[in-house]
Amino acid sequence: MKILNLDADFLDLFDHTSDLIHFLDMQGRILAVNPSWASHMGVCKEEVAGKDIYDFISPQSRDKYRTYRGLIVDRVGVTDIEFELTAADGGRILVEGQIGCVYQDGKPVYTRGVFKDITSRRMAEVALRKNQQHLTAFMNSAPSAVIIIDEHQTVLEWNPKAESIFGFRAYEVLNHPLADIIIPLQFREAHARGMAHFLRTGEGPVLNKTIEVSALHKDGHEFPISLSISSVQIENRWLFIAFISDITEYKQLQEEVIRNEAALLQSKALDDKKDQFLSMASHELKTPLTSLKAYIQMMERNVNSDAAMPARFLGKASDYIKKLENLVSDLLDVSKIKADKVDYNIEEFQFDDFLSDTVESLRHTSNTHQIILEENALAACRGDRMRIEQVIQNLVSNAIKFSPEAGRITVGSRLRDDEIEVYVSDQGIGISPDKLSNVFDRFYRVDDNDMKFPGLGIGLFIARDIIERHRGKLWVESEPGKGSTFYFSLPRAG
Ligand code: ADP
Repeated sequence: MKILNLDADFLDLFDHTSDLIHFLDMQGRILAVNPSWASHMGVCKEEVAGKDIYDFISPQSRDKYRTYRGLIVDRVGVTDIEFELTAADGGRILVEGQIGCVYQDGKPVYTRGVFKDITSRRMAEVALRKNQQHLTAFMNSAPSAVIIIDEHQTVLEWNPKAESIFGFRAYEVLNHPLADIIIPLQFREAHARGMAHFLRTGEGPVLNKTIEVSALHKDGHEFPISLSISSVQIENRWLFIAFISDITEYKQLQEEVIRNEAALLQSKALDDKKDQFLSMASHELKTPLTSLKAYIQMMERNVNSDAAMPARFLGKASDYIKKLENLVSDLLDVSKIKADKVDYNIEEFQFDDFLSDTVESLRHTSNTHQIILEENALAACRGDRMRIEQVIQNLVSNAIKFSPEAGRITVGSRLRDDEIEVYVSDQGIGISPDKLSNVFDRFYRVDDNDMKFPGLGIGLFIARDIIERHRGKLWVESEPGKGSTFYFSLPRAG
């Protein structure tokens, strides 16, 4: 029986469409398939005529197809069917389409199926879904914050680690401009400029490298992060992917290491200073001792011959004993200061009288320098006269020592509010600005190795302690080659 009656137009469509078309009799035997059907399945269209369609449908799709076809034959309207065919080479072809039934005298005589091959579309969908799953898995498990923004800085992705680092939940930031969220105010302009520059020129100095910057947390505090940004262009649109780690702990650790190293260096430097100090101290003590010994030996030799000589020698010997005594008492002072055991004998006294007496007695100690009292304000003071005198002595003897080429030392006192300000000024070698703050440190000498200026580097340390105990200040102004002026202030009494 010829049941298929295809006119020429339909035949043309039948032969040239990319859709897969088959006609089946009511037993499911193939009446005809079109060339696309045959080529998809890898068969010859003449060979398959009369064969059971279910031999070409993949086993897991057979029941579905049978049921669907039954519904069509029973005139139940159903939507598209999706099922799988098995090609001659075993390849699986996923198709989607419809079945129609042709009736004669109210009886079904054959069915027609028209399907599209959706294998590649479905594979792409599966691949896309997989990609999305991988991306989600990556974003969720990434050990660093991953943020993706577009060229308008709009946040497109914000992973859980970003939530925990910055305190913002994804729903709070998605589709918002990044700059308003995590970039501290002071960097926003630079960030916008950088972005505009990149979009104009394609150059981005912060791209593809790791930098350390500070970021803003939801609670408002700034914290250090390490940041690396890469850019990708997708369909003419730039996307920026930022990988971010919170480096607060790392920074703290780094600072601690630096602090420890500095402390180590400092203690090493102190050790070195102590060694230097010991050798300086031995030298300083030995010099007057050697002279003292020489004078005593000479006196021994001359004791019976010349009466005038020993008297002069005695004067010299007692000068050296005084030097030794000063050195030893300075050393003792340092240890007392360290142990906080310096005794002060506090009394109220007229400062101007005290200053002129002190300068007067210092005048006799130097035959190389003139010591001039320029001004002397009338004021009373409460303090330990001996200790304050020790400070002035120290400043004047330093002024003498460090101005070998100049012969003039000026001293003065003036009133500043409730304080008496005293200065000792020389025109000597001066101190370079970077050393100024160190001269009051224990054992500090600007040039340790310069034997031209003997000393132990403790005079100013003691002086500052004494002045500070009197609630005053000791400081210096100096210009290398021009001279130094040391100042101290003391509260006025009354
Ligand atoms: P010393 O004089 O025993 O070395 P000081 O503590 O009195 O110790 O002074 C510390 C250092 O400060 C000196 O070694 C010197 O380098 C510098 N100094 C002090 N006074 C002066 C000054 N008037 N001019 C230049 N340098 C000075």
